[in-house]
Amino acid sequence: MVFKNKKVKKVLRLYKKLFSIEYALRLIDWDIHTYMPEEEGSERGVIIGELEKIYKDFLQSKEFVNAVKEASKEKNLNDYEKGVIRVLLREIEIYEKLPKEFIEEFSKVVTEASKAWERAKKKSNFELFQPYLEKIFELSRKKAEYLGYKGSPYNALLNLFEEGLTCKDVDKMFKEIRLPLRKLIRKITSSKNFKESHPLEMEEYKKEKMKELNKKILEVFGYDFRRARIDESMHPFTEGIGSDDVRITSWYSKANFKESLLATIHEFGHALYELQIDQKLIFTPIATGVSLGIHESQSRFWENLIGRSKEFISTMYQTFKEYMPFLRKYEVKDVYFYFNLVKPSLIRVKADEVTYNMHIMLRYKIEKDLIEENIVVNEIPSIWNDEMEKLLGITPKNDSEGCLQDVHWSEGGIGYFPTYSIGTILASQIKLKMEKDIGKLNELILQQEYGKIKNWLEEKIHRYGSTYAPKELIKRVVGRINARPFLNYLKKKYLQIY
Ligand code: MG
Repeated sequence: MVFKNKKVKKVLRLYKKLFSIEYALRLIDWDIHTYMPEEEGSERGVIIGELEKIYKDFLQSKEFVNAVKEASKEKNLNDYEKGVIRVLLREIEIYEKLPKEFIEEFSKVVTEASKAWERAKKKSNFELFQPYLEKIFELSRKKAEYLGYKGSPYNALLNLFEEGLTCKDVDKMFKEIRLPLRKLIRKITSSKNFKESHPLEMEEYKKEKMKELNKKILEVFGYDFRRARIDESMHPFTEGIGSDDVRITSWYSKANFKESLLATIHEFGHALYELQIDQKLIFTPIATGVSLGIHESQSRFWENLIGRSKEFISTMYQTFKEYMPFLRKYEVKDVYFYFNLVKPSLIRVKADEVTYNMHIMLRYKIEKDLIEENIVVNEIPSIWNDEMEKLLGITPKNDSEGCLQDVHWSEGGIGYFPTYSIGTILASQIKLKMEKDIGKLNELILQQEYGKIKNWLEEKIHRYGSTYAPKELIKRVVGRINARPFLNYLKKKYLQIY
């Protein structure tokens, strides 16, 4: 038995109610993005609101809060029990600190801001969004004050998305990569070993065949279709509904098959994390991945380090050809270069693995400066464009391909972006550590030993769920966040001729 302490067991008995509501909300959310009829919306919105209210009321109820606080005083709790208390105290504390009226105001502003952002993006006019964004940053500063912080108020916001993350951590991480990445990008683009575009981007595919290919790849990785699904949605996502019910989606268009394939592999990485959490943790608040950053390290590991590798592409080339007959005109090498184009570009979600982090650095700098009141919102477009020029040597022609491109700010998600970079950088550290234990990743991919890779990830990371706080888990697996393995990986891969 994992949970022995009586007071923790009492907390978990009560928690079942919260778990059930969350479970229902996850299933509802998945449905909204996949099969919900177009016209539904008004009932669904009300139902979600009601369920969330029941959740919050119970989370903040005397009965529940007292049970958690009592349990937190217990000595000699095991790691799982401590994890349960840590996760719940954190959530309770956030709600305790933020006044109800503030949460209501924030969500009202966000609803209006989302609509304004859509209009502004369509018209490529930042001014239409500016007053809403000013309000969002103003409220975000207020939020930081309510939550409390040491050092920068931005720390309070970072912590909401990545438990324990501070500006100091992020500054250090970006300082390590900023200059080396700029140099590397210049070298890669001037060497012309890697290409900026490829005719395969234009090759059209049959959607049904693409779906079959995605399923085939998932089978090769050993995706457990008895406990998991793949469906289609506008934007790919993963929903871990329960311990035996994890669902991913992919997206489909007319051409450029790698977009669908790599999205599937990315989401597989997220799904695998949820699927490999110890089943003994079911119905508890730690039966889920611990943070956005660590989750993203898993998806990027599979997408970049496996999906874009020479070994994966060469072993799967014949399979690709069965489903994508146009590949008969191309060699393995073509597919490799097509999967690994390098081009400084304006849009974050389309960026390659070399230039991607530059996009995050830019957003981080702007968010931090706004929260610390070093700049004001109407300066965003000009700062954005200057920074793009400095980091990637390109300038947006308009705001919709510049500072209006992401949905995050309109949703009030200030402090979210750095988790993407943590994921990318951590993935390379994980690879290095894994190789010490089970041998070179490239060899394992060549032998299609995905079971070994999955077992290692399960043993070292997945099985714990949220037992350990992100920093603690990182410490146990790789020590601390360090960008060198990531930089070395990029250099080795991209400064080499095929
Ligand atoms: Mg992801």
